[in-house]
Amino acid sequence: MSSSLMREYLEFYRDLGINELYIDPIDSEPDREDPVDAENQHEAALRVIQNDMGECKRCRLHQARKTIVFGSGNPAAKLVFVGEGPGAEEDEQGLPFVGRAGQLLTRMIDGTCERVGLPIRRPDVYICNVVKCRPPKNRTPEKDEMEICGQFLARQIKAIQPRAICVLGGTAAKALLRTSEGITRLRGNWQEWGGIRVMPTYHPSYLLRGYNKQGKVQAFQDLKQVLLYVYG
Ligand code: SF4
Repeated sequence: MSSSLMREYLEFYRDLGINELYIDPIDSEPDREDPVDAENQHEAALRVIQNDMGECKRCRLHQARKTIVFGSGNPAAKLVFVGEGPGAEEDEQGLPFVGRAGQLLTRMIDGTCERVGLPIRRPDVYICNVVKCRPPKNRTPEKDEMEICGQFLARQIKAIQPRAICVLGGTAAKALLRTSEGITRLRGNWQEWGGIRVMPTYHPSYLLRGYNKQGKVQAFQDLKQVLLYVYG
């Protein structure tokens, strides 16, 4: 918000007899941010969340994990990808989407951007999961585990303040969007979370399962839609 607009806004409320205003930090982003400052601010906000998380034992998933996989990428990213939870490789390395599915995700992001002529690559976005600890034997996270860990995800998204979220796979989509709708119906259609547009698409691990040309074509269409909306 510009300073003149802010003054008008405050005067408007003063005239109404309201002297104290609470301004939601999400809405108070300056019009023109210095990219370095912005990145530092978002990074600091993420660090606070990570510190609060500490050596988290808030749900049963802490029992078998090696590492908490918080998230990685640009802290001031305009696009956040949200998956379900870490796998074995991610648990080892402490980084999200570094296994086979992660490599496919990188190719999907980089390849789509290249094809549509966007100078964006995987390090420009931010990537995280609904749950930060690997579920044993890669089972689907339970509802309560996603509820508990989801509070950190919500704070992460608010700290980053992206223009859009791309949610990967049915489990993450259900958790984030609080819907019972399956991914086949959800994908390709804009949804909303906390005032932010959300594009659901397939999880890359689903696309790795055998020959899945149709799924890949659809995921490309979804990614293209969200990438062009954010960076186009
Ligand atoms: S999954 Fe989340 S809530 Fe559960 S122990 Fe790990 S960090 Fe804590």
